[in-house]
Amino acid sequence: MSRRHDALVVGGGLAGAALARQLAAAGRDVLLLERQSGPHDKVCGEFLSGEAVLYLRRLGLDPAALGALPLDSLSIAGRGEAGRCCRLPFPAFSLSRRRLDEALLAHAAAAGAELRRGAGVRVLERDGNGNGWQARLEDGSRVQAREAFLATGKHDLRGWRRPPGRQPDLLGFKLHLRLARQQAMALGRGVEIGLFPGGYAGLQPVEGGRANLCLLVRRGAFAALGGQWPALLAAITASCPHLARRLSGAMPLWERPLAIAAIPYGFVQRGSDGCWRLGDQAAVIPSFAGEGMSIALHSAHLAAACHLRGEDAAAFQHRLAHDVGPLVARATLLSRLLVRPGGQALLLGAARALPFALSAAASLTRLPRHALRGTGLNPAEALARLA
Ligand SMILES: Cc1cc2nc3c(=O)[nH]c(=O)nc-3n(C[C@H](O)[C@H](O)[C@H](O)COP(=O)(O)OP(=O)(O)OC[C@H]3O[C@@H](n4cnc5c(N)ncnc54)[C@H](O)[C@@H]3O)c2cc1C
Repeated sequence: MSRRHDALVVGGGLAGAALARQLAAAGRDVLLLERQSGPHDKVCGEFLSGEAVLYLRRLGLDPAALGALPLDSLSIAGRGEAGRCCRLPFPAFSLSRRRLDEALLAHAAAAGAELRRGAGVRVLERDGNGNGWQARLEDGSRVQAREAFLATGKHDLRGWRRPPGRQPDLLGFKLHLRLARQQAMALGRGVEIGLFPGGYAGLQPVEGGRANLCLLVRRGAFAALGGQWPALLAAITASCPHLARRLSGAMPLWERPLAIAAIPYGFVQRGSDGCWRLGDQAAVIPSFAGEGMSIALHSAHLAAACHLRGEDAAAFQHRLAHDVGPLVARATLLSRLLVRPGGQALLLGAARALPFALSAAASLTRLPRHALRGTGLNPAEALARLA
């Protein structure tokens, strides 16, 4: 068994790496364990909200220097719709997770966190006398720490399973594509949402002249299509002419899309069992909101501040649930509408009739200002500078 660390961070995504960076910079002995051995893609729309950018900059990482593209418009389209469009009412960017996560991990290591790649945790439990933690890794080795932080994102550790949330029946897919030249120009710096029976898809540019197609579909709707990706893609383009146009002549850059199931959308961790839960392990906001990364980074900042002040996991979890609970609930309500025929018609009708409806819906699912202020940011000033 290795030495006893001050902090064990399980999972090196945004939440885990951001927390490890801050604790290490404050002089703590931090062990950061990441299961993947190298750079990897993740199922994610890669919409980086202004709030996420503020947190990254505060960590000393500039997304623009990593190649992030500024996004400027949002549109929604369904059957027979040309697409309703508005200017994004807040600053937002696009950056691949492969690039962002890797940069943040390197940043944590540069601050002094001990980073182990290819180090999947199999078991996390209290140590024998109950005042610390021990983890058993997939290779059989063990590590010990005074505090444990769980940041495994979409993946639950045995014994630490999250409940199913309020909208658990969606499957997520993501594919990078190279759009036909004319369609890439027409997409420009926009985020385009297309509705189809049982789901919704988002298309946006990412660095390197690529586009990210990321979508969610109800499990039953996918099963009715034989559970096959080509059939799903055909159904989407058949029911959303706007997306069909964008994707015509597009070249997939991967052999097959990444996929994910059993996402506990709407889940918010309330209360604590002693372990600090961050990012998706603490709250899962429906994907269309594009706020999951902000929440992950917010949870890391809050956890670092609470831990360094000597507060316990219960106090942290309570504050985090207070900060993000209402927006996760609002986003889940909207997300339920987005995958039902009546709800889709309602949302498209509202977007058509009320020019401000689309930007209002987008603004409803942002991290509240008081939450950002609580971690020492001056959001109004900083967001205005980003815009
Ligand atoms: C379809 C879809 C689209 C989305 N689109 C957006 C979007 O456009 N914008 C946005 O802001 N958010 C989006 N999100 C949400 C966003 O991806 C997550 O909220 C965010 O990644 C959470 O960060 P995290 O650090 O908690 O987890 P993750 O980023 O998932 O990181 C967890 C890390 O833990 C590691 N890990 C897992 N298990 C173990 C283990 N046992 N041992 C060691 N390491 C382990 C994993 O390899 C991973 O690197 C989307 C989510 C989905 C599903």
